[in-house]
Amino acid sequence: MTQHTPTQPQKKYVLVTGGAGYIGSHTVAELIENGYECIVVDNLDNSSYESVSRLQILTKHKITFYHTDLCDKEELRKIFVNHNIDSVIHFAGLKAVGESTQIPLKYYRNNILGTLALLELMQEYHVEKLVFSSSATVYGDATRFPDMIPIPEECPLGPTNPYGNTKYTIEKILNDLYESEKKNWKFAILRYFNPIGAHPSGLIGEDPLGIPNNLLPYMAQVAVGRREKLNVFGNDYDSRDGTPIRDYIHVVDLAKGHIAALKYLDNTKSEGLCREWNLGSGTGSTVLEVYRAFCDACGDDIPYEITGRRAGDVLNLTAKPDRATNELHWKTELNVADACKDLWKWTTENPFGYQLKGVVDKFAAQKDDFESRFITLGEGTKFEVTFANLGATIVDIKVDGQSVVLGYKDEAGYLQEDTAYIGATIGRYANRIAKGKYTLNGKEYQLTINNGENCNHGGPSTFHTKKFMGPLVQNPKKDIFTAEFLLLDFGKELNEFPGDLIIHVKYIVNVAEKTLDIEYQAELVNGEATPINMTNHTYFNLNKVNKETFAGTELRVASARSLDMDMKRVVPTGKIITREIATFDSSKPTVLGEKTPDYDYAFVIDENEKITDVNTAKRRKLTTVAKAYHPESKIGLEILTTEPTFQIYTGDWLSAGYTPRQGFAVEPGRYVDAINHEQWRESVILKRGDVYGSKIVYRFT
Ligand code: NAD
Repeated sequence: MTQHTPTQPQKKYVLVTGGAGYIGSHTVAELIENGYECIVVDNLDNSSYESVSRLQILTKHKITFYHTDLCDKEELRKIFVNHNIDSVIHFAGLKAVGESTQIPLKYYRNNILGTLALLELMQEYHVEKLVFSSSATVYGDATRFPDMIPIPEECPLGPTNPYGNTKYTIEKILNDLYESEKKNWKFAILRYFNPIGAHPSGLIGEDPLGIPNNLLPYMAQVAVGRREKLNVFGNDYDSRDGTPIRDYIHVVDLAKGHIAALKYLDNTKSEGLCREWNLGSGTGSTVLEVYRAFCDACGDDIPYEITGRRAGDVLNLTAKPDRATNELHWKTELNVADACKDLWKWTTENPFGYQLKGVVDKFAAQKDDFESRFITLGEGTKFEVTFANLGATIVDIKVDGQSVVLGYKDEAGYLQEDTAYIGATIGRYANRIAKGKYTLNGKEYQLTINNGENCNHGGPSTFHTKKFMGPLVQNPKKDIFTAEFLLLDFGKELNEFPGDLIIHVKYIVNVAEKTLDIEYQAELVNGEATPINMTNHTYFNLNKVNKETFAGTELRVASARSLDMDMKRVVPTGKIITREIATFDSSKPTVLGEKTPDYDYAFVIDENEKITDVNTAKRRKLTTVAKAYHPESKIGLEILTTEPTFQIYTGDWLSAGYTPRQGFAVEPGRYVDAINHEQWRESVILKRGDVYGSKIVYRFT
């Protein structure tokens, strides 16, 4: 029997082999859309983890990923042991026809041994449903028979290259296995025609490493200037325009075909089956028709040249998809023009696919733990920022090569018990809640006390120890990188706050302007209301390159008006007083010394003082709230926000591997303990249907 995971005993998973690849990733999106839970296994031989990372953001869903080669049976076994796998969709394989003629042994080893290991484990763990990626290549030249165009499933098989032979052999293996235990096995063999296009979101698509083998990715690379021109192999065929006819299918339609096949297997209750279905549109398009559709989509006539026929090409390979239509109740809904439009969106938004220059990542805990990464944006530029999945934390900021913030070299540093929340996203509720108590909709809540008599920074529900999904990393313009993290703050486990939240943390790094924008957004998807107040807890030391402390930092702030504190209880009295601190119009800055002045106070931003909005990002302009400068390093920092207050903390209790006053924090946010003060309360209550939002900017000079 398959073993269940301790945390999710009831969930049934679809194991998607090769799920990081082109068709696999689109299928994962459709599976999740249709309510399936997915586990992806991929050796990343022809793909990148970025597709999985983006899928998580696209689907707002956690996708468990194993970086495993199917041929490594013992590693593969772990997946069967750890998860309750219900069915398998098997995409993993090498797929380049031309390459397979050069290195056939690698193709046979990878595709066939990988499949054998998978099937043996399925047998051992009683996983009996499999959808297999076969290919129209198994038919070979169907034009050699009379009346076999369009190609029906009954067309005799006859692959003409090692790649096609591996698909043919796997089909045979599946048939033999089914014959041996007819009651048990349910196999759907899907013979794809020519998959094209990309997801309409522009977030996932085909990312061919090296020179693309297929028409559409090749044209896309010509259009963005990565290749010189398109070669059209022969215009002397007996077709409408002399170029060969193929059956092109939008990858989203193809992905949906897998859901239809899986449902068909799920619904086949009594006995087993092993059956083939063509997945094609049934409509043939010539090379020049596809060329025209693509040029229309990209608004430019890309250069092409007619060259001689390519060995092995034939006039017409169009599918007869009737069996899939009748039995799987599936047919294509999108056409070549749709595919070209989506491909163009994908290409223009990701001209180098998932490989972004200036973005590097490394594992921050053990290798292959893709949820534990440090991702650097702007690498090699004058402004580099490193983020962690853990807490969507800012791990490092380098200005002209010099680090100006505190941070640890690995995840363990961030998980120390006496945490200082270094660089972390703070939530669900930043700063203190008096006695950890509040009432909401007539109900009293008690949070765990973790700071004197109060609850600070969310107590045990704190975001700094939570693994954020993603990030979705993009390079939308020259010099600008974005990284978007997602947290599903769901369930009662380690969450003392009511309701389920979907939280987005988006970082925008402008390497030319040396700015880091932070955007917080939260949406309540379950429950009536929750308290919320988010911020970032970076500790700055603008002179870190020269000294361990920030002593000598010159500080000015927008306002000296500050929340009066009941110093015994360390919570605001509700009054606003004036503190000694240099404001922007003061003649001299406040100089932070080795020991004094010490601040752990919230200051009020005049123009935002009366804020009641739960979404300050939407209605408020950014206001500069603090300016810091160190004369020795000559590095300056400005902090801007849409929030009503900012806490200045001079790190006088810094611990967790640091000593006091190694870094100072400026934490924009809502009023401290607002949930317990009538005049501030509205701004920290997120109700179902509303969106919480705020913005912070760190600008360096
Ligand atoms: P792809 O290369 O983008 O995806 C295949 C994935 O499998 C890749 O992510 C690769 O890293 C992974 N992989 C390969 N060998 C593996 C192994 N031993 N262990 C673990 N992972 C492994 O290709 P695709 O276009 O998405 O194709 C998916 C499947 O569909 C393939 O089996 C392919 O032969 C078949 N197919 C593709 C086309 C096409 O034109 N794209 C047409 C017909 C059939």
